[in-house]
Amino acid sequence: MIFGALEAGGTKMVCALGDENGTILEQKSIKTTLPEETLPQIAEYFKDKKIAALGIGCFGPIDLNKESKTYGYITSTPKPGWKNCDIAGYLKRELGVPTGFDTDVNGSLLGEVTFGDSKGLSDVVYYTIGTGVGAGIMTGGRLLHGMLHSEAGHMIMERVEGDDYKGHCPFHHTCLEGMASGPAIEERWGKKAIELSERDEVWELEAAYLAQAMVNTICILSPKRIILGGGVMHQMQLFELVREKTLKRLNNYLNVPELKDMEKYIVPASLHDDQGIMGAVKLAIDAYDEEK
Ligand code: ADP
Ligand code: ZN
Repeated sequence: MIFGALEAGGTKMVCALGDENGTILEQKSIKTTLPEETLPQIAEYFKDKKIAALGIGCFGPIDLNKESKTYGYITSTPKPGWKNCDIAGYLKRELGVPTGFDTDVNGSLLGEVTFGDSKGLSDVVYYTIGTGVGAGIMTGGRLLHGMLHSEAGHMIMERVEGDDYKGHCPFHHTCLEGMASGPAIEERWGKKAIELSERDEVWELEAAYLAQAMVNTICILSPKRIILGGGVMHQMQLFELVREKTLKRLNNYLNVPELKDMEKYIVPASLHDDQGIMGAVKLAIDAYDEEK
C-alpha cells in the first residue's frame, strides 16, 4: 500500500509517498505562498498516486479537537493568508482518503518512535530547535493534545546572568523560543548560527537555556527520553553541554537509572531530517487503520 505524507511548513510543503515501513519512495517540495495557490498544488501532486490515506504534520497553531467545527484548521498563525485555513479538510475532500492530522513536532516524534532509534518507547518528548522552538509529546503511547497542543517552546526562561538579550518572541520576549531559537542566536550574536560553530560562549549560553527546558520537561512530564532535533541541533557539541547542565540543575534531586545514562536520555534525532515526513507516513497509516 502507498501512503501520502505532507510535512506542512511555513516556507515549504514537503509532499511524499511512503510505504508501511516508513520508506520514502519519492518526494517533492512545494513553496508555501498563499493557501489558494499552494493547496491545489499539493492536491495535484497526490491526485493520481493511488494513496490509501494521507498524513499531515502541520505548522501551527492548529485545531486538533475532532469535536470542533474548525478541526483540521490552521488557526491563529501570523503567517499571511493561512489564518483559519482548513488545510486537512480541503485535502481530505480533494483526495477522498482517510486523513491524519497533527502538529509538525508530534509528527517528528511519531517518526522517531515508529521508525527511528526510539522505536517502541512510549514516553518521549521531541523538541525542534530551529526557526521556532516546538515540542511533541508522547505519554503512555499517545500523542498529547489536550486543550490545544503543546506550546513548550514558549515556556518562560530564567535569564542567564550576564545575558541582556531582549528576546526574539513578540509575545513573551524571554521564553525558550525567544532566547534559544536560531533567529534568537543570530540576533544576539550578529551572525548566522552556523557561522558561530567555533565560538564556545555561544553554545554554553544556548545549552544553559536548553537545559532549563530539559529540567522543566523532566519534572513535568517524566519522559523516558528527550530527542532534540531542528537546525540548531546540528551543532553536535550542544548535546554534551545540555546533558551536563541538565544534571547540574537537577542537582541530584531525581535518582533514576535513565538519568545515569545521559547519552541515551538526551539524544539527537536519528532519521537524518526525515523524521517529520516519515512521521507523516505513520499519521496516514493510523488514519487508514482507524477508518477501516
Ligand atoms: P525550520 O525550523 O525553519 O523548519 P530548521 O530546523 O532547519 O528549519 O531551522 C532553521 C534555523 O536553524 C535557522 O535559524 C538556522 O540558522 C539554524 N541552523 C540551520 N542549520 C544550522 C547549523 N548547522 N548550525 C546552527 N544553526 C543552524
Ligand atoms: Zn514566546
